Amino acid sequence: SARHDGPSTPRVLLMGARRAGKSSIQKVVFHKMSPHETLFLEPTNKLVKNDIANSSFVQFEVWDFPGHVDTTSAAVKPELTFGGCSALVWVIDAQDDHAEALARLQATIGTAYRINPSIVFEVLVHKVDSFSEDQRIECQRELQAHLSEELTAARLQHVKVNFHLTSIYDHSVFEAFSKVVQQLIPQLPTLESLLDILVASCRIEKAFLFDVVSKIYIATDSSLVDMQSYELCADMIDVVIDVSCIYGLGEGADDGTGSTASNCVITLNNGTALFLREMNRSLALVCILKESVMQQQGLLEYNCASFRKALGELFRLPNQPK
Ligand code: GDP
Repeated sequence: SARHDGPSTPRVLLMGARRAGKSSIQKVVFHKMSPHETLFLEPTNKLVKNDIANSSFVQFEVWDFPGHVDTTSAAVKPELTFGGCSALVWVIDAQDDHAEALARLQATIGTAYRINPSIVFEVLVHKVDSFSEDQRIECQRELQAHLSEELTAARLQHVKVNFHLTSIYDHSVFEAFSKVVQQLIPQLPTLESLLDILVASCRIEKAFLFDVVSKIYIATDSSLVDMQSYELCADMIDVVIDVSCIYGLGEGADDGTGSTASNCVITLNNGTALFLREMNRSLALVCILKESVMQQQGLLEYNCASFRKALGELFRLPNQPK
């Protein structure tokens, strides 16, 4: 029972073999389940379509296919399934035998690509938490080489497939979903330059624009992302949003500056400060900066307000067709 909301609702399909970790990923990323609770998840046996929480900025759906369903068979209604789909995320259990997963992935890519050549393919090499750094690299390299052989044999060597090493026990799965989601946001280049301007004018070291519900970052400035900075900022969201949900101003409260939302500065013991401003109900800006820079908080506030205004204008615009 597919519902068509038009092109403004990007659809993400989550597929992979049974027990690969699809439900766990979805529960951890979008429903704040703690990773250990996933041990008791029932395997997915039905085709489940999940609308991600409405309060989330990223309005996308995850279709959780049971492992045994042939994703290329008529029963899946490939035209419908892949036709309106923006990204296909395929989960491979890195700890399991890869041969079957790869064969099915290649078949799925073939079908999906023929129906919809603009679809973005993403592979999560998942459950790598027990792997050493070398094992991770080797595992991804091997999978990439195998898939590329299979795609070449199927004359699909030009299809681009992105790989991510993930685990629900750290932030890697959030990082991977951030990258997936960013490709589905047509305004991304503009967002990135807005963040670059903000960072440069306030001497910020790193700025992330977060989807508060999922803790996926939908954009960041163009300096390199290191995992630790991302984790710091993601943890800050948890702390601040949870505290302000309990103790904060009610929805719609306005202090006259146009900000109705959570604001917070946390100073760390190494001279670094974390600065959070909620942009609207679903987005928060989190910055890492030197504590000394916080002395010019007025400048920071001014530039954040400009950024919020630009953001509002950017997302009021209708989505441009690709
Ligand atoms: P699905 O059938 O693809 O939806 O798979 P599930 O989400 O039910 O996951 C199957 C099992 O894998 C569960 O026992 C999860 O706890 C486990 N699992 C999921 N993700 C990870 C991970 O990143 N690392 C590890 N070690 N186990 C995981």
